[in-house]
Amino acid sequence: MSRKQKFKTEVSKLLDIVINSLYSEKYIFLRELISNASDACDKLRYYSLMNPGMAKDNGEFKIVIKPNAEENTLTISDNGIGMNRDDLINHLGTIAKSGTADFVRNAKDNGSIVDLIGKFGVGFYSAFMVASKVEVVTKRAGEEQAYKWISDGVDGFEISEAEREKFGTDIKLYLKEDAKDYTDTIYLRHIIRTYSDHISYPIVLDLGKAGEETVNTGSALWTKNKAEITDEQYDEFYHHISRNFDTPWMRLHFKAEGNIEYTGLLYIPSEAPYDLFQPDRQQSLKLYVNRVFISDKVDDLMPAYLRFVKGIIDSADLPLNISREMLQQNALIAKIKAGTVSRILKELKKRSENYEDYMKFWKTFGIAFKEGIYEDVANRAEVAELSRFYSTNSADKMTSLDEYISRVKDGQTTIYYITGDDVPTLRNNPQLEAFQAKGLEVLLLTDPIDEFWVQVLNNFKGYPIKHISQAGEDLKIERQDSRADEGSLKRLTDFMADIFKNEVGKVVATEKLTKSPVSLTVESGQMSIHLERLMRNHQQQTSFASTRILEVNPYHPLIIQLADSMMDENERKNVEEISRLLLDQAKIAEGEAISDSSFFSEKLSEYILRGWQRKNLN
Ligand code: ADP
Ligand code: MG
Repeated sequence: MSRKQKFKTEVSKLLDIVINSLYSEKYIFLRELISNASDACDKLRYYSLMNPGMAKDNGEFKIVIKPNAEENTLTISDNGIGMNRDDLINHLGTIAKSGTADFVRNAKDNGSIVDLIGKFGVGFYSAFMVASKVEVVTKRAGEEQAYKWISDGVDGFEISEAEREKFGTDIKLYLKEDAKDYTDTIYLRHIIRTYSDHISYPIVLDLGKAGEETVNTGSALWTKNKAEITDEQYDEFYHHISRNFDTPWMRLHFKAEGNIEYTGLLYIPSEAPYDLFQPDRQQSLKLYVNRVFISDKVDDLMPAYLRFVKGIIDSADLPLNISREMLQQNALIAKIKAGTVSRILKELKKRSENYEDYMKFWKTFGIAFKEGIYEDVANRAEVAELSRFYSTNSADKMTSLDEYISRVKDGQTTIYYITGDDVPTLRNNPQLEAFQAKGLEVLLLTDPIDEFWVQVLNNFKGYPIKHISQAGEDLKIERQDSRADEGSLKRLTDFMADIFKNEVGKVVATEKLTKSPVSLTVESGQMSIHLERLMRNHQQQTSFASTRILEVNPYHPLIIQLADSMMDENERKNVEEISRLLLDQAKIAEGEAISDSSFFSEKLSEYILRGWQRKNLN
């Protein structure tokens, strides 16, 4: 019995894009189908470790490619895990992955979608680039009934019961007229060698009467000697396991020897995945035991801050029949993880010596990597050392903490930072004026994670790391310029404290400002204004706001004038309005919203106009 089922809307949109926007790179469908066949063999191999005997009559794992020029068809077969009815509906009829919508969006403004196909896990659908009809006959391991799935890639698909002796899958493509090439064995051999050579199962070309020919060299690449592996092979393998198609920024192939032995072949991509910051994103190292694929969902193999690292770890020291549950919390896994992380950090350290090169990595993954300062207690200092930051030292170059230390002023014992939403706004923050006047460098931190690591990294190489609001007395600047009269200044700050009592906790005179009349800060040691804003945006807090302090600059002509005007009762309204404008200005400099923007713009224009008219009178 068969019944036509519709594709989910996203799938049909996707099919449309895949089929219609790609001409020159059609051959990638074969790589995708072979890759799926290889995954299916991996899965069955793993399940039969768990359930011995399950696949005992299924033959040696292999992938068979069978062209038929007369019929104009091409069949890709494997003796892997197979699919039952539900699998067919869930895996070939829908794309359950959250990435689908992103794929459709991305594909619209992307010339080449080759890399997107792999990245978003929609490989199977690429078959419709060359086929007008696809027929899948498959039997799921451990089950009795086989099924046939048929689709033209437009309307939907039909599933019916079918016959298949062994477990596995045949994917038969009814090739389009313009895709006749894919029955040509010379061409097929070429595509397979170019794109699928690293597949560790034999890929066999079925030549009919002429017999079968194994086309790939087919050994687990990581077990080979480095000297025997070409860059192309390394890259191809990376494409296979990562589903990315960029050239990796870093490659690390190593063998750990000692009380636990394992091999790692790891890559850092040059492009960030679209879901780098999605909370449910999993790390994606594949774990093998003696060349047998075990799992790509071992959470404890790589810390979250290195979740962008791709590759494989193979250890013969783990038991082959280890279950996924046993893998979590396994002491050997923890050792492998620690060893692998320190190798990655060491390699990054080498690469960090070339600024331009390292920036390629940093700008792509730095925000995720910095989480390690917070998260990786054991390697906290190393991760901090490898991190890069903007600072007041340079307009565009990022700095390391070591470089910062190399520039400290005589007697400077602290690394200073300020946090905010973006670097340009931070550079103009009035709180930096005294630091500028004294030539003290300040790190400009703008990522949410920065608010957290600064709280756990107590010091770097003996230098405590402090928010600029904690700088205290060291910042006093020597001055000769005229200062507001102490008495009227006190009257002014008291007056401001009174009118702003709902918005700021204190109004104080400061010695720290040089150019600005006012600035906002918080009580030393309290949550920064930026962190408070982040938490407010995440609805995490409203009640434990830090005490805001409005600092006024007693040397600024405007403050002197305001202080003087406190003596004159008639000026009270002007003093109040201008004070309000100044508070708004301080809020803007901090990236905070002002309470009444129409008041702000009306009064600002009014006072500018008054000042201008007076100037013209003089
Ligand atoms: P991905 O390989 O990234 O998961 P695909 O679109 O290539 O995405 O395949 C979708 C799913 O269909 C696979 O995850 C798998 O569950 C199933 N599938 C595809 N080909 C096979 C096959 N030859 N054997 C078993 N399952 C398969
Ligand atoms: Mg696939």
